[in-house]
Amino acid sequence: MRFIVILQLLTILAGCAAREHEPEQKNARLFTLSGSTMGTQYTVKVLGLSEEDAAVEIRQAVERRLDELDGLLSTYDGSSDVSELNDFESRQWMNCSEELAEVVAEALHVGQVTEGAFDITCGPLVDLWGFGPDRRMSNRTPTDERIAEAKAKIGLDKIEYQLDPHSVRKASPSLRIDLSGVAKGYAVDQIALLLRRAGIESFLVDIGGEMKGRGVNQEGKPWRIGIETPLPGVRTVQRVIELADTGLATSGGYRNYFEQDGRRYSHIIDPRTGRPIQHQLVSVSVLDPSCARADALATGLMVLGPEEGYRVAVEHKLAILMIVKTDTGFSEKMTPEFEKACIPEGESPSPQDSCGRNPE
Ligand code: FAD
Repeated sequence: MRFIVILQLLTILAGCAAREHEPEQKNARLFTLSGSTMGTQYTVKVLGLSEEDAAVEIRQAVERRLDELDGLLSTYDGSSDVSELNDFESRQWMNCSEELAEVVAEALHVGQVTEGAFDITCGPLVDLWGFGPDRRMSNRTPTDERIAEAKAKIGLDKIEYQLDPHSVRKASPSLRIDLSGVAKGYAVDQIALLLRRAGIESFLVDIGGEMKGRGVNQEGKPWRIGIETPLPGVRTVQRVIELADTGLATSGGYRNYFEQDGRRYSHIIDPRTGRPIQHQLVSVSVLDPSCARADALATGLMVLGPEEGYRVAVEHKLAILMIVKTDTGFSEKMTPEFEKACIPEGESPSPQDSCGRNPE
């Protein structure tokens, strides 16, 4: 049976002070836009709009852009750009949208950084384990033969991109790509860009837990996010961080999995084994100016696990926080780059401003 879990690592948005802020934003009106997109929820908080009408226009522009991105990058939409690529049974270059080429470029970069752990070609494995668009394909764990068969179809060397003209080429005509581990973060970046182009300097964008903050909140202070310890039924803030013109993404195996014969199978697949990850790493949070990169890195480091993932993060000077399950509870591993963004203990975020991972 499949579960989609609400629990554990929640993020809560807070409005506490830490440093100098822009006085003109203090007490500015906060508009909150929210809705559904990409199989999850989004929330956009903006400051600096003087009228309701302007907020309505921003809402329409945000919704249009989210719809556009969904129509380009979703494997859940048979007519999207990425589905067209998946159905394109040819080794020729296929012209595509700028967005698809950019997402593929970012994904391949993160694929290299994570030594192959983040692999957008893992579509056949994701489908085989029942985590793709057609979830009914799998009611139980696949056989070793089918895993080997699907594994033979994947590989980062099987896809290339060009940015001028925007195009993508598959080395194997039957290659299928899955952008679920990177496209929500890319959409966050795109909404942030839209808001900045509209002249909005203070906002917080959240799509299914992938976030980007810029400027200040309604109290004129930097946006703050509380990352909670994954304790069932208890909301304990593990860390409070400031989002100053940066993206934050979190991956975890605890939200989307199925159980069979007492074993839990996560939606995050290790391309090296062809199987869902099996280790004690509960979640990885990554800070990066690019939310697309943070999103993909979080998934890739989840695949690598607490030791290898941490080594890669240190080598590449990534700002990450890992929460690891131990015999007695949970422990955390943090790189110095992440620690710099943390607020000293004792300063807690205000729960009424919460805007975190959405219940799924
Ligand atoms: P993340 O860790 O960010 O990503 C995990 C996902 O990445 C897995 O579910 C899998 O698809 C893929 N993956 C697994 N292993 C790897 C790996 N080793 N390397 C790379 N990728 C891997 N869901 C719906 O139910 N209905 C929809 O209509 C729908 N539309 C969507 C449209 C778009 C454009 C996108 C991006 C996603 C959509 N989703 C939809 C998917 C849904 O929101 C996913 O659950 C989500 O994207 C996964 O995000 P996450 O934060 O849970 O996990």
